[in-house]
Amino acid sequence: MQNRIETKCIHEGWKPENGEARQLPIFQSTTFKYNTSDEMGQLFDLEAEGYFYTRLQNPTNDAVAAKICAMEGGVAAMLTSSGQAANFYAIFNICETGDHFIASSAIYGGTYNLFGVTMKKMGIECTFVDQDLPEEKLVKYFKPNTKAVFGETITNPTVSVFDFEKFARLAHSHGVPLIVDNTFATPINCRPFEWGADIVTHSTTKYMDGHAVSVGGCIVDSGKFDWMAHADQYPGLTTPDDSYHGIIYAEKFGKGAYITKATAQLMRDFGSIQSPQNAFYLNLGLETLHLRIKRHCENALAVAKFLEKHKKVAWVHYPDLESDKYHALANKYLPDGTCGVLAFGIKGGRDISIQFMDKLKLASIVTHVADSKTCLLHPASHTHRQLTDEQLREAGIAPDLIRFSVGTENVSDIIDDLKQALEQL
Ligand SMILES: *Cc1c(COP(=O)(O)O)cnc(C)c1O
Repeated sequence: MQNRIETKCIHEGWKPENGEARQLPIFQSTTFKYNTSDEMGQLFDLEAEGYFYTRLQNPTNDAVAAKICAMEGGVAAMLTSSGQAANFYAIFNICETGDHFIASSAIYGGTYNLFGVTMKKMGIECTFVDQDLPEEKLVKYFKPNTKAVFGETITNPTVSVFDFEKFARLAHSHGVPLIVDNTFATPINCRPFEWGADIVTHSTTKYMDGHAVSVGGCIVDSGKFDWMAHADQYPGLTTPDDSYHGIIYAEKFGKGAYITKATAQLMRDFGSIQSPQNAFYLNLGLETLHLRIKRHCENALAVAKFLEKHKKVAWVHYPDLESDKYHALANKYLPDGTCGVLAFGIKGGRDISIQFMDKLKLASIVTHVADSKTCLLHPASHTHRQLTDEQLREAGIAPDLIRFSVGTENVSDIIDDLKQALEQL
């Protein structure tokens, strides 16, 4: 019997045996003890399963990864130290120097830099595409060395909705996996595997943690992509790994191959682990995720409707508004709601937006989104402040864009705060 998503939030992951701790224990230990040298040797050869060093695996982290895996409907998952680490590993696990991949140009700025600047220095080329282009235009960006397609369910900060079926068709007809960052939607509102995605990533720092206490990330594999059927494209998974006596991941681990390789190679070598303490906080956040997401969405829709009608507001982007460009896609892929983040602009442009932000009392100006406290950020004066208006528009960010992350407070208080700030302009 498969439990529903709300029950999975609470019961998946840590499953205590008779007499064990009911709540997930924090295994605050770097290492694990064995009775014989041979037993530990087997672990180093990936011949036996077990814990030996927390950089590779830790029981607290594994329980939380298993919970997120169950919520997404995947076969294997791993936690990482941050969303950045998750997206880096997700690509680097299947791309090496000389490879190419395609990403939506509307993705989170941090991921954009990672793909466009840092991974370029590693000899991996990313082509950024306008995700709203029709299939016949997008198909032209594929090259013989293209190894993956990457998008975000709901983009940060422009809240555009990703057309999963279009990109899954494109990726699969070229024999490459579709990787989707599902941070803003969370598996409560969208499960990308049901729409053709092969691998999902998360910045767990956002709604999953939900209280702005710990930075973290996660990668989940659906187990659906057949690496062996494209063996020439993915030698890292389909040819012997000399650092483990020549094992072939796709042969030895089947559907678990992708995550096993990411753990055994990338985590071993780069070490971007989540601390067990942070994984514990993340697990607490996950237990209430279904309650909070519902409230975030209700509140955000009410705020969006208020802003849409206000005469000092120039525009509002929120996919659950009927007037929104992405409403049809949101209805299709996220019928229960999208997220608590919306974007809007105030008449008068960049400077007026700044004045407005300083007048808010409840909503705080922070470099964060997607936690229980309403917060906001103006990319043109914060995350993207080095860019001119022209460069901002090229990045798809309007100079007056305010990213507003609606919390779980009483929505009337959030609206009252907006009202008084707008009145002062
Ligand atoms: C914040 C964010 C990231 C980066 O995650 P960190 O945990 O801050 O490293 C990646 N993708 C999206 C969509 C995000 O919002």
